[in-house]
Amino acid sequence: MKPLKELVRSNIWELKPYSSARNEYSGKDASIFLDANENPYNTPNNRYPDPLQKELKDTIANIKNVQPEQIFLGNGSDEAIDIAFRAFCKPGIDNVVAIEPTYGMYKVCADINDIAYRTVILDKDFQFKANDLLKEADENTKLIFLCSPNNPTGNNLNCQEIINLLQTFQGIVIVDEAYIDFSDQKSFLTCLHEYPNLVVLQTFSKAWGCAAIRLGMAFSNPEVIGIFNKIKYPYNINRLTQQEAIQMTHKYHEVKQWIQTLLEERTRMVKEFKKLSCCLHVYPTDANFFLTNVTDAKRIYDYLVDKGIIVRSRNNITLCKNCLRITIGTRPENDALLEALKSYR
Ligand code: PMP
Repeated sequence: MKPLKELVRSNIWELKPYSSARNEYSGKDASIFLDANENPYNTPNNRYPDPLQKELKDTIANIKNVQPEQIFLGNGSDEAIDIAFRAFCKPGIDNVVAIEPTYGMYKVCADINDIAYRTVILDKDFQFKANDLLKEADENTKLIFLCSPNNPTGNNLNCQEIINLLQTFQGIVIVDEAYIDFSDQKSFLTCLHEYPNLVVLQTFSKAWGCAAIRLGMAFSNPEVIGIFNKIKYPYNINRLTQQEAIQMTHKYHEVKQWIQTLLEERTRMVKEFKKLSCCLHVYPTDANFFLTNVTDAKRIYDYLVDKGIIVRSRNNITLCKNCLRITIGTRPENDALLEALKSYR
């Protein structure tokens, strides 16, 4: 990896971040707060939240077996993706490399930040070779985006190829693990010490059942996390979200139970889908959804909408012609989908 100073945009490296009232005073003993122009009456949301989310980070650090200084918390992992662009990529000059197809926000954030987005199409098994991505990269390539398990294909990316990239690429490798809790592949969190250029993304939106609270996590070495913290809005994670996330961590056993049930349902759904006359193929999945190639994606999508069932059409995405992406729901929801498709003609 190049020295961090060379990778980070110089204006960001030099940036003096905004110092909020709650940044400047963070001790516990004071009882009268006249420093932040808040309303003193307890609503109970009258006080600004902890800008660095200490209690929540301590809790997550424990669960994930990392140090709190290795964690950035964002308004969804989408915030972390955008901050990575703003930290490393000079608009109009730098570029990033990503696999295709993959999660759509990498390209949207690239476009918003005026960064060229270079892609390498996955092979027929939805896998990639590190060398093919490296061939697309040049001295202005700051980030490489990987997503494992990948969205919308559902499969784990080849671990060894990810390691090859981490060892060879001189910039930052972002491994988006939004769906890792549904996969039997080991998280790259365990490799943070080995690879200073690794950023792992995870989220409370999927297995944790908290898409509404908007909480995403980026894990990296403390220097990279320090840069992310400099850029973020001072109070980017609101108090209700911090509280709710801490409550959820107390229900970790329940989350594990959901995952187990969803994995059983996934096995059943894949098996049942293969019997449907409108289903041509189900791609292997390591996530809480699967990609299926059907006889006529548009017609089936519309047919299901008519019955009040919404799936995701990926018909217009590279390598996904006539494909639908199906999220695993509750057993009754899954049954309703199967019943509807059995009567599709
Ligand atoms: N990464 C991937 C691969 C996703 O599929 C999604 C959401 N669909 C996200 C990140 C964004 O998650 P969040 O809700 O944490 O912003």
